[in-house]
Amino acid sequence: MSGVDALTGTYCYLEDSPRPVTPSSFRLLDDAVGRVALAVSCPRCGSTSVNLVTRPHVDVPFHSDPRVGVLATAFEDGSLRSIDGLRAGLATADIDDKGLEQHA
Ligand SMILES: [Zn+2]
Repeated sequence: MSGVDALTGTYCYLEDSPRPVTPSSFRLLDDAVGRVALAVSCPRCGSTSVNLVTRPHVDVPFHSDPRVGVLATAFEDGSLRSIDGLRAGLATADIDDKGLEQHA
């Protein structure tokens, strides 16, 4: 175990659970809405969730927002291929506020 990969805290909507991921799980990133909308593929269940985070949350290693916005809909893996699809989801779905603390 190298420990060099900085994990980014994200939240899996389908599993309703915090899910730290490496940047390789990021699918789309859009900052049109003030916060960064981050589409992330869950390494455990394979669904794609959209999280709303601050810019430092994705840019600054080991910085983590304590809470994130989570789009209240899960996407099938591969169904969210474009920024337009992401924005359509942002325009229609509710956004839940979730804490990223791990509950072991
Ligand atoms: Zn998941």
